[in-house]
Amino acid sequence: MNPPDAASTAMLDPVSADHAAATPAYRRILLKLSGEALMGDDQYGIKREVIDRIVAEIGDVMRAGVEIAIVIGGGNIFRGVAPGAAGMDRATADYMGMLATIMNALALQDALRRADVESRVQSALRIDQVAEPYIRGRALRHLEEGRVVIFAAGTGNPFFTTDTAAALRGREMGVDIVLKATKVDGVYTADPMKDTSAVRYKTLTFDEAIVKNLKVMDATALALCRDQNMLLKVFSISVPGALKHDLAKVRTGRAHTGLLDHLHVESYGASVPLSQVARVTLADPRTIGVQPFDKKMIPAVEKAIRDSDLGLNPA
Ligand code: UDP
Repeated sequence: MNPPDAASTAMLDPVSADHAAATPAYRRILLKLSGEALMGDDQYGIKREVIDRIVAEIGDVMRAGVEIAIVIGGGNIFRGVAPGAAGMDRATADYMGMLATIMNALALQDALRRADVESRVQSALRIDQVAEPYIRGRALRHLEEGRVVIFAAGTGNPFFTTDTAAALRGREMGVDIVLKATKVDGVYTADPMKDTSAVRYKTLTFDEAIVKNLKVMDATALALCRDQNMLLKVFSISVPGALKHDLAKVRTGRAHTGLLDHLHVESYGASVPLSQVARVTLADPRTIGVQPFDKKMIPAVEKAIRDSDLGLNPA
């Protein structure tokens, strides 16, 4: 790696940072966590460090006064049984998938309990010994009382997905936004893990996502979001701090380098992570130092910081 030969500094704007600390961006959110979000780099299952990190962020967002509902997927467990389910009746396989989401919901609730965050699991399939049945009024009451509500078993119906459950429960709970956690930091023209020319959309209409088959969510979920005027944001759960800082806008007024982790910079026609073109350090508690490896990148780096909605002021 080349040594840094130029310096550009991104400084936390004290006014916007303190303001953001007092007023989170949203009053109530619905977080859609896919099963895959819980498995980290593994092929299936639940990874303890990953779930603990997500839970710590959820706790911070909740303590900032945001009410949080969660719809949890089941892909991480269902993948493990998928080979055996080949050729199985679709509805039966779907019920198995819904049962997988209940297991994830219980794991998540247990992790929340360890982090001193009160929560309730409500299941769309009755399983009274381990979870409350889904009752809308009761779920709303839990949220108002400051409990995280985890919705398990999707919609309770085969032939649907937990994305549709997220749109449905989000609407029923009257949330300000549905936040979908994925492995990438937004919606791209193609899969950025496979296609390096994939470009990230800044905004996108639901119709565009449906017509272009962009795999943000399945078409049923997208149509529901569109018809109900829901706001949806896709973010990367692998970026520490993404939920807390970028989305819920909960800030402590202190700078930390993780704020810039998800930032992409235009470099020779491609969008690349900031870390590939610059060294990011903590200069002092209110200042993040960003040193592009190549001087020519300074304007592009400044633009990326200014265009992000992080409230940072590059100097
Ligand atoms: N599922 C279902 N109805 C629902 C939600 C989920 O039948 O309302 C089943 C479906 O088989 C799905 C599985 O549960 O494949 C796990 O959900 P999903 O694939 O949405 O989980 P994720 O991919 O988010 O982990």
